[in-house]
Amino acid sequence: MERLRFAPSPTGPLHIGGLRTALFNYLYALKNKGQFILRIEDTDQNRIKKGSEKHIVESLRWCGITYSEGPDKKGGFGPYRQSERGAIYSEQVSTLLDKKKAYYAFDSSESLNKLREEKEANGEKFLYSSQNRMLLKNSLNMSKKDVDFLIKKKVPYVIRLKVEGNKTLICKDELRNAISFNSRDVEDKILIKSDGFPTYHFANVVDDHLMKITTVIRGEEWLPSLPFHSLLYEAFNWKKPKFLHLPLILKPTGKGKLSKRDGEVEGFPVFPIKWVSKNKNICGYKEKGFLASGLINYISQLGWSFTKNKEIYSLKGLIPLFEIKSLQKGGAKFDYEKAKWVNAKHIQALSIEKLISLSDSKIKKGLAVFKPEEIYEIYSLIKERMILLSDDHSLISFFYKDPQSYLASDIKKINSPTLVATIINLENLLSGLDNIKILKDSIYNYCKDEGVKFGHALKILRLAIIGSLSGPDIIKVLELIGKISALRRLKNLKNFI
Ligand code: GLU
Repeated sequence: MERLRFAPSPTGPLHIGGLRTALFNYLYALKNKGQFILRIEDTDQNRIKKGSEKHIVESLRWCGITYSEGPDKKGGFGPYRQSERGAIYSEQVSTLLDKKKAYYAFDSSESLNKLREEKEANGEKFLYSSQNRMLLKNSLNMSKKDVDFLIKKKVPYVIRLKVEGNKTLICKDELRNAISFNSRDVEDKILIKSDGFPTYHFANVVDDHLMKITTVIRGEEWLPSLPFHSLLYEAFNWKKPKFLHLPLILKPTGKGKLSKRDGEVEGFPVFPIKWVSKNKNICGYKEKGFLASGLINYISQLGWSFTKNKEIYSLKGLIPLFEIKSLQKGGAKFDYEKAKWVNAKHIQALSIEKLISLSDSKIKKGLAVFKPEEIYEIYSLIKERMILLSDDHSLISFFYKDPQSYLASDIKKINSPTLVATIINLENLLSGLDNIKILKDSIYNYCKDEGVKFGHALKILRLAIIGSLSGPDIIKVLELIGKISALRRLKNLKNFI
């Protein structure tokens, strides 16, 4: 059975790049009738951000990406927070120490920094590796007695993997050609840090193995770690999972990786849901007015394209289509306008009842003066204009609130020497009507008799009623707000002019 995991580090809010990783793992697991789990990789205690795990969990929940095991869902392979798995890592590292595949290193950071600087001064890179480890301060060149003595004296140490030198190794990534490398160039990376916590590399490999992960789908930034991870699997003599590194999500310009700052500069969210920290409250896609299904649909297309003739899918609808071979390895450009377009399509697919239920309390309060069937009618009128759920504010508020101001550019468009006279005529027409349903015909006839352009008269009416020159069918709006409100709004515009 395929088992996949999303393994974020809680070092900040979940970014849409992370969301896409979670989504592809989820889709692949479900497509293969497998399992999808959440594991929190919180071994780097200095980088943990408060509230971050909660943000990850709540974002996934909002998006409908459910996991069968995780920190808040018991399963047979827990705990699912690495900080709670200390005993497991100690046991596993002992195995490597016993097999002489790992060793203690007592080098001080000052001595290593000095060596690093010396190398860098010559334009070289310092690696703690098979090439120099016998010259450094570690258990490979000490007696057991000396090692025990140092440990007993609480001299700080780390545990490193002993990478066998000069072996040609091949790593496979499902999206790329096999990568061949010489183990001589791979560092004896740290497995256990001096604070006793495992490094990301060690905990990640141990957990993937113990949690029976069959396929690892993660961001491209982890591709350089693949050789070391492969060597760790070999040291343990464990079977490797399949690996797949997803392409980067690029800035809208296509140049460089999409960052949190790009969203701030360009004015689009980069988190699925809002992120509240001590001094910041950053709006997410949810608060911006996206439907989770719209966001997921858009994100799914970043690096994955399976068909050209249909673009709108639900999360469930994506599952049967997911295939590794339709993933691309080149970076995927982020396009907020396209995301909004996809979201609008998802809004159009909602029933009016559902849209009404999604409106916020402010709108609900404003619309309280209308009968349920009128509210239904209002939403039917504006639905096709909605791109974001939050658009209902600008599209609906004029139903219960008189326009407060008019744009000078709109006034300019309707201005003429007869403007006030036309407004007065419209007022007279309206107040003389018993049945608003025939208003359009009456305006039409009046325009014909007076030589006023029908479109022009409707524009004036529209500006008076909704405060803008664009919007839904003005006669229908007028029917809904009623004659008294409409007359008041015509008078307001007249006074303003
Ligand atoms: N904890 C790593 C991250 O936050 C996970 C990398 C992986 O999936 O192996 O990106």
